[in-house]
Amino acid sequence: WPNATLLRHGCLGSAPTKPTLAFTLRTLAQFHELHRVCPCLSAEAQIRALCNLNRIPYQKNITDQFRITYDAYLEILGRVQRRVDIALKRDTPNWRALNVCPACDYRLQDEPSLKYSKLICIDGNNSLRRVNLKFTREVETYIDTRKPRTDYWLFAEAVDMFKDEVKAKKAAELVETIDPGDVADGASFVTVCIQRWRNAGPEERKRMWQIFVETGIFVAVCRHGFMLYICDMIQSGELAKYGLALTDKLINVYGSNLCIGYDIGCAFSST
Ligand SMILES: [Zn+2]
Repeated sequence: WPNATLLRHGCLGSAPTKPTLAFTLRTLAQFHELHRVCPCLSAEAQIRALCNLNRIPYQKNITDQFRITYDAYLEILGRVQRRVDIALKRDTPNWRALNVCPACDYRLQDEPSLKYSKLICIDGNNSLRRVNLKFTREVETYIDTRKPRTDYWLFAEAVDMFKDEVKAKKAAELVETIDPGDVADGASFVTVCIQRWRNAGPEERKRMWQIFVETGIFVAVCRHGFMLYICDMIQSGELAKYGLALTDKLINVYGSNLCIGYDIGCAFSST
């Protein structure tokens, strides 16, 4: 296999049997780290820079081959990590969430229990937007069918189980709606807090989110800043289902003796 030989020399080829182009592992590792700190850095930008450094004209096929090689590189990293996790017995369900923060989760024998077993903060943001190309260029947008390798990602299906919770509550109040319901929709009364939160995201903006395939992420972190769970916000702003799905997961994993902070928590608690 040519790639076994190439790997011994620190390179990875762009095809399994007859690669015509190879990239060094250092180039792939450097792009991996750069892409983690700057997700908008594209493979094309990386290849254009490499072409300039090597004084060769840019060709689109080099970018295509880089993408293929980079996918293979990530697959190798993922499989190696999986084997390491199995060897270290870190492959049990929710291992990461239960062990990520030593300050929160390392309990001593006969340690007196605290009022709350864990302080957690949840919130969504929208800095990872991806436009649905159907709206801008009338082409089918790429649907990412890959599944996350880590267990701290909640799948869209797990989140969607909660999409009718607020609607069900509204239906009980005889209000006809197709709106999935934002975080504050379940509140039985409107406080200053809810008004301010809604002013920051008016109705028109809620509809605007439809043009994005993904609008951002919704996360839960412990009070020491460690990531516990995360889910994608898809074609919407901050809906109730994201908070409900994460809270449900947190209670299932850590028990109900939790203190959860949320910027619209007053309304969300009644949802
Ligand atoms: Zn912690």
